[in-house]
Amino acid sequence: MNEILKIKVKELKTKICSGQVKSVDTVKACFDRIKEADSKVKAFLKLNEKMSLKQAEESDNKIKVGAKCGLLEGVPIGIKDNIMVKGESMTSASKYLENYISPYDATVIEKLKDAGAIFVGRTNMDEFAMGGSTETSAYQKTANPWDIEHIPGGSSGGSAAAVASGMIPFALGSDTGGSIRQPAGFCGIVGYKPSYGLISRYGACALASSFDQIGTFSKNVTDSAFLTSVIAGKDYRDPVCEPKEWIDYTNDIDNPDTLKALKVGIPKQLFDYKTDSEISKYFNDAVSKLKFEGVEIAEVDVPAYKYVPALYKVIMCAEVSANIATFDGIRYGYRSLNGKNLNDEYAKSRGESLGYEVKKRILFGTYVLGSKNYHRCYHQAQKVRTLLINQITDAYKKCDFIFTPATLQMPVKFGEILPEECDIFLIAANLAGLPGITVPCSFTSTGMPMGVHFMGQRLFDANLFKVARSFEKISGFDISKYPSF
Ligand code: GLN
Repeated sequence: MNEILKIKVKELKTKICSGQVKSVDTVKACFDRIKEADSKVKAFLKLNEKMSLKQAEESDNKIKVGAKCGLLEGVPIGIKDNIMVKGESMTSASKYLENYISPYDATVIEKLKDAGAIFVGRTNMDEFAMGGSTETSAYQKTANPWDIEHIPGGSSGGSAAAVASGMIPFALGSDTGGSIRQPAGFCGIVGYKPSYGLISRYGACALASSFDQIGTFSKNVTDSAFLTSVIAGKDYRDPVCEPKEWIDYTNDIDNPDTLKALKVGIPKQLFDYKTDSEISKYFNDAVSKLKFEGVEIAEVDVPAYKYVPALYKVIMCAEVSANIATFDGIRYGYRSLNGKNLNDEYAKSRGESLGYEVKKRILFGTYVLGSKNYHRCYHQAQKVRTLLINQITDAYKKCDFIFTPATLQMPVKFGEILPEECDIFLIAANLAGLPGITVPCSFTSTGMPMGVHFMGQRLFDANLFKVARSFEKISGFDISKYPSF
């Protein structure tokens, strides 16, 4: 693998801007690696080789004449296929949007364009981000680059696998119920979901609007923090976006004192679930390493964790059924020509183009919102969601961060199913609108990586990056290692 691809993004950008490294060589290195690895990994749905090289040349020329450099000038990035780039297709890995061309740029894309980033291609995902394995994509299955018989996780499995195998230095994903942090954990990289409202979702295909966030994948914490500095910030087109000053999330990220006087909470409920024995072992090692650095470990009690799978399912599916209602076959997307009347046309357009997982969620969501079930299911779930948020708020009286394994199980082989509680400590962050980050922790005996997860306090994302970076330094995980193909 080309050494250029191992350089940290901030440094890479500085080298490109000083003419030490050419953007064209960086982009070529990405495509060489993609050609080497992607026939096995299948991380990309679409590649923009010609266009990327042209943009890279433009960046290099700009630099030659001394023009001002953007924050990510000439640096390649991968984009999950549910975020709009004007004039490009966006399928959300669904047949329904097979021929859909984005009419405008998502806010994060506008910001990346202003920063001079180069869009290498669109990464594979579960259809409409529904799934945790990338197997529900209508187009292809992405493999875990550490063992291609295993899933990479999902729904942003393409972004995770592409970064983990060194095809791109970083990528964007979306996280509604762990879809960035779970595949990042399975693929041995850093995955970050911001506080709800920190990064605009304008131009991202909605799954469940009260959870959805765009976030980042990278090999190391600093790159995710840097990318977040570029894409975060107020956007009047996303009403939940917080009015925050511009923040450099890499500022003070290497402070050697971050772990001193820090309190980390481990939920009592973690021990109620069956956890892979190696995950438990390496998680305990991670806790010992934190203690050794002077971190105080507290036990926290969040009994409502046990409701997370049910809560998530009810509220997420309800929001799915409302959001996906725009896919009626009339306005845009797939249209069946077999409809006998209007209702039949709706039914056939959806029936012929949507996958099983999507249909199942629409049906369940419609059921829980029905007049007979609304109070019993949806309203009740919202009340329990508040209970969970209150219990987590109480837990933060005893600690600064909540620390758990990223997932309770290792990635399974294709076709096998993960237990539903596998990601509950990730999903809790979506239910409560809190920021979370997965950091690789260790390789297990099978050679597959595992990660740990820090959940922070709302809008204190800068602190989350600092603690994640400090953990990265003591974890002993070798981030310079890449899958060997
Ligand atoms: N596994 C979760 C689900 O299937 C993740 C979804 C997501 O975060 N996009 O709903």
